[in-house]
Amino acid sequence: MRGKRIRLLADHGELDVLREIRRRGAEGERGGGLRLGIGDDCALLRVRDGEELAVTTDLSIAGRHFRLDWHPPESVGHRTLARGLSDLAAMGARPVAAFLSLGVPRELTLRKGRRGSWVERFYNGLFQLAEAHKTPLAGGDLAESPVALADIVLVGAVPAGKALLRSAARPRDLVYVTGNLGGAAAGLSSLAEFAAKRRLVLSDPAAAPSELSPHLYPQPRVRQGLALQRRALATAAIDLSDGLSTDLLHLCEESSVGAIIDASRLPVAEGASPDQALHGGEDYELLFTARPTTKIPRAIAGTPITRIGEVTRGQTGRAPLTIISGSGLKPLQPRGWQHFSDL
Ligand SMILES: [Mg+2]
Repeated sequence: MRGKRIRLLADHGELDVLREIRRRGAEGERGGGLRLGIGDDCALLRVRDGEELAVTTDLSIAGRHFRLDWHPPESVGHRTLARGLSDLAAMGARPVAAFLSLGVPRELTLRKGRRGSWVERFYNGLFQLAEAHKTPLAGGDLAESPVALADIVLVGAVPAGKALLRSAARPRDLVYVTGNLGGAAAGLSSLAEFAAKRRLVLSDPAAAPSELSPHLYPQPRVRQGLALQRRALATAAIDLSDGLSTDLLHLCEESSVGAIIDASRLPVAEGASPDQALHGGEDYELLFTARPTTKIPRAIAGTPITRIGEVTRGQTGRAPLTIISGSGLKPLQPRGWQHFSDL
């Protein structure tokens, strides 16, 4: 955190907020790969011998990825970090450090009641998840902006040559997912109904009904991704950010293969529809493939693993994805969720 732009906010009594960001940002440092965090011109990261760095960046914009009038600030902070951690999980990387640039309209820096300003509550949500995954916030920027936006960078480390790639699935591999699918999409539609009726969710996140949690507070599968990498269980992996049908297509395209999905095997989240499980985005579960001879555990770090299909040979002129259900075989079209573009 540095420079003049910080002072813009600091002038408005935000110095203690910045001090708190620096203090909490450092909390994940112990034993990790962060040698020097917030306070100097650069952060210094250290990785172990024989490791490669995995770096991912995600931009979240008000009105596009979240809504100030729908999402509690804690949820926006949580989801910002969850997106980056989920990408590290999909590579089988361990988190080393996060960097966050946050732009907010001035009114979001003003304290409101005992729960603090929007910015403070955003950081509370972000730090809660960061601490759960021992990920220090090692730097970033905070500036006034006409629209709220958060740009996060995650740095992870993975033994050289061992990262889980999208491009390594082979025909006859089996297709698996972690956890349940569709919960985030179902939560989002409940949130929309909720927001239309009352504003309780915004003012008191603790009072938010549990059906909203998969959307408001998705849990990135960092431990599961690490286990897949360390135990060499998966051939390829991707995280489910856009929806199963879209993300599976990404994996198949990168691997030049097709896939067949068994609709009856999909782990549909409670309250979600089969369509939401197939196409709903932002579940942040992992989708991975494994050789048919590899024994995949029923659960990893408490999260169930479900086999949902098989990798097939890619054929030119043929839709790469097929779904089998009670009504027979059909092409599976990618219909991943398009953020808030159609709301
Ligand atoms: Mg991803």
